[in-house]
Amino acid sequence: MDKGTILVIEDEPNIADLVDLYLSRDGYRVVKQATGEGGLAAVRDQRPRLVVLDVGLPDIDGLEVCRRIRATSSLPVIFLTARAEEIDRVLGLELGADDYLTKPFAPAELVARVKAVLRRTDGAPVAEMVPAGRAVVDVGRREVRVDDQPVDFTTKEFELLRFLATRRGLAMSRQQILDHVWGHDWYGDERTVDVHIAQVRKKLGDACVITTVRGVGYRLESSTP
Ligand code: CA
Repeated sequence: MDKGTILVIEDEPNIADLVDLYLSRDGYRVVKQATGEGGLAAVRDQRPRLVVLDVGLPDIDGLEVCRRIRATSSLPVIFLTARAEEIDRVLGLELGADDYLTKPFAPAELVARVKAVLRRTDGAPVAEMVPAGRAVVDVGRREVRVDDQPVDFTTKEFELLRFLATRRGLAMSRQQILDHVWGHDWYGDERTVDVHIAQVRKKLGDACVITTVRGVGYRLESSTP
């Protein structure tokens, strides 16, 4: 019985093992990481359904880990906090945590919370957020944000940026862009792409670099300027 992967980022082996034991017994596949960096790598590589995240970690703290997860996805996060002031920080920072538990906690309670959060978030697929330099293409909300501020994009501009951002670092021809953003049955000029690129560049300013690739088309650079 495989109910998907739960990532547990916790540096205290006793707690991590206990959580592992209970969640595994309930049919989840559990991946354990003892550091924030290791945890972030596992978010990318293991595609968990949910993250159980300790606030006090040896390298980067859990709040920062959550912030980085939230920069690219709406993956559910349950915090484990050790002290009251940690709860205040978790709640005060509005990181979008889905729940939290204070140590010491009963493992059965954690399993119940995991199930409740998954029930709540199930069916709502993890929203895709595609980074584009300092901008983020929030596919779920159909919104582009620069430094957390929404920028007004038309539908075509949004689809254009989304297309390039999901292929960042790769040169895309005007025809490929037209086919994907405007559709194969669209009879128009390739200059349409140039006009929209100009608009997108203007709206993003220096937040994101879209390079003109001579004789080809455009490439969204993967590095932040
Ligand atoms: Ca800890």
